[in-house]
Amino acid sequence: MTNQVVGYATKEVGGALNLFAYAPPKLGEHDVQVAVTHCGVCHTDIQAINDYYGITPFPFVPGHEIVGFISEVGTQVSNLKEGDRVGIGWQARSCGECEWCQKGETQLCMKIEDTTVMVPYGGFSTSVVADHRFVYPLSSSMPAEVAAVLMCAGVTVYSAMQTHITRPDLTVAILGVGGLGHLAIQFAHAFGCEVTAMSSSPDKQEQALGFGANHFILSNDRGSMQQVEYGYDLLFCTANNGIHWSQLLMSLKKRGKLVMLGFPDIELNSTNLVAHELSITGSLIGNPSRMRTMLSFAQDHNIKPMVELMPMSQVNTALQIVKENKARYRIVLVNDA
Ligand SMILES: [Zn+2]
Ligand SMILES: [Zn+2]
Repeated sequence: MTNQVVGYATKEVGGALNLFAYAPPKLGEHDVQVAVTHCGVCHTDIQAINDYYGITPFPFVPGHEIVGFISEVGTQVSNLKEGDRVGIGWQARSCGECEWCQKGETQLCMKIEDTTVMVPYGGFSTSVVADHRFVYPLSSSMPAEVAAVLMCAGVTVYSAMQTHITRPDLTVAILGVGGLGHLAIQFAHAFGCEVTAMSSSPDKQEQALGFGANHFILSNDRGSMQQVEYGYDLLFCTANNGIHWSQLLMSLKKRGKLVMLGFPDIELNSTNLVAHELSITGSLIGNPSRMRTMLSFAQDHNIKPMVELMPMSQVNTALQIVKENKARYRIVLVNDA
């Protein structure tokens, strides 16, 4: 048998992660095996550990912002070879047959829960297996920790903006200056938009402006939010809690659009929606084509997450920091197995 994989798994909902050894998944003819060097910690890892989406398989090894080196290639793979440095995000394969896969919108695959790199086991481990069509070669000038975060947080904000920022003269607000938000500010600025960062933490103002925001608003301050009523064409919501929904919707221009990127519970009164003809939508990761254009866009515009590195053996501490919203702004685990 080939070498065992060593990962960090939880055996139950909400449990701590512990060392867990398993046989490497069988390599399909279109697959590659990647030896993981770095893996970012995403807020959705915590939601998956808590089975928030109701699809988590246990034992569960989280981790889907992966950077590493190709260690084995399937017989039908010609564009990648052993030793190539690559990134992998949340999605590692797709059914290829449903209407969405046929359109190339693989992030909407009807069998989405089977498509994640965390099935059978994710990137908080020594290696993963993915379909080569979801494995992205990285420029040698892009640091591993930067590429790792772009694999989920980066493509999530970029793809949403590529879809919804149809003109650079749109006024854009970003709610939440965290892992997603600090990248969303940078991407929206690079799209040429006037950007307002909204956060409940006054101490994030200076950094938000540094990331490229033109303005900063305290999202939990009624007076400040009243001053921006009817202010924005587009509002990207990256926050996960503490959201005052009716106040938030009032900051949209008539026919404005709220784009959800995180997964908070939404409490809505329909009055503003109807009276101002607002839209609420969501955006999920991005397809392989968006992933590739995101990587070159980020490189061209010098978009970089602010990252704190931690050894993978401290994964539980890292998860706790993210859970408490104390990461500034993203943690990337470095494999020390
Ligand atoms: Zn993620
Ligand atoms: Zn599909």
